[in-house]
Amino acid sequence: MGLMSGKRGLIMGLANDKSIAWGVAKALAAEGAELAFSYQGDQLLKRVTPLAAELGSDIVIPCDVGDADSMDALFEALKDTWGSLDFVVHAIGFSDKNELRGRYVDTSAENFDMTMNISVYSFTAICQRAEKMMPNGGSLLTLTYYGSEKVMPHYNVMGVAKAALEASVMYLAEDLGRDGIRVNAISAGTIKTLAASGIGDFRYILKWNENNSPLRRTVSQDEVGKSALYLLSDLSSAVTGEIHHVDAGYNVIGMKNPEAPDM
Ligand code: NAD
Repeated sequence: MGLMSGKRGLIMGLANDKSIAWGVAKALAAEGAELAFSYQGDQLLKRVTPLAAELGSDIVIPCDVGDADSMDALFEALKDTWGSLDFVVHAIGFSDKNELRGRYVDTSAENFDMTMNISVYSFTAICQRAEKMMPNGGSLLTLTYYGSEKVMPHYNVMGVAKAALEASVMYLAEDLGRDGIRVNAISAGTIKTLAASGIGDFRYILKWNENNSPLRRTVSQDEVGKSALYLLSDLSSAVTGEIHHVDAGYNVIGMKNPEAPDM
């Protein structure tokens, strides 16, 4: 019997085997969870289907979180297949990469709205739909980044979006807590993924984190997966509204490590 035996959940945001969602999905499946996957756009279907199959799942459903009908269709499909849900992982974020470099002050209204919709509101929209399928309580998890707390180079409008996402985790935790539904976020360290490669000077940021975090390294998708397992399982039954850092300790550091090589 694994920690997640008898639990069923949805993984959103799997693009390939470098995705944080993949690290989370593997950790959950290893503990006996039954998984469904959503993917954005036909191009990702051919990547997501074999990964889902590797974890014993053939439930692979399209969903663009910018489209309310698409989210409704996803949850209708899950309702028909399973009836109820125990957890959802929301590992989704998006912004125009031309605005993930240069100055935040130059952010366009159009990209601001789009970034907030896809990277912030979508989690609330997913919680609305998931709540209806969680009669016995559940656990909802999103992914955030330290650029919400402190200025990180080029993170710009995504930093503002992640701050709003973290605030929404608190409000969602309060609203859904009385029904036994917990809502948390993992603030992950820097990891080389498709989304991260859109951020200007990403390799420099990754190296800086490695040189200056207390553990003197960055983190892996599998390590985020292990912490997600805790937040999605009954091990964290009294934890909600939490922003849990899985970042090799980088967030506690106040200045550059004096022994770090010059960059
Ligand atoms: P990724 O590119 O593997 O995943 C991002 C996912 O978002 C993709 O699967 C993409 O299809 C999905 N997505 C984007 N727009 C969408 C839409 N309209 N509808 C549905 N799905 C959509 O990259 P990742 O780094 O694994 O990102 C997952 C989450 O982790 C994001 O929220 C990201 O901000 C967060 N995060 C990443 C890092 C990092 O360093 N990689 C650090 C902290 C937090």
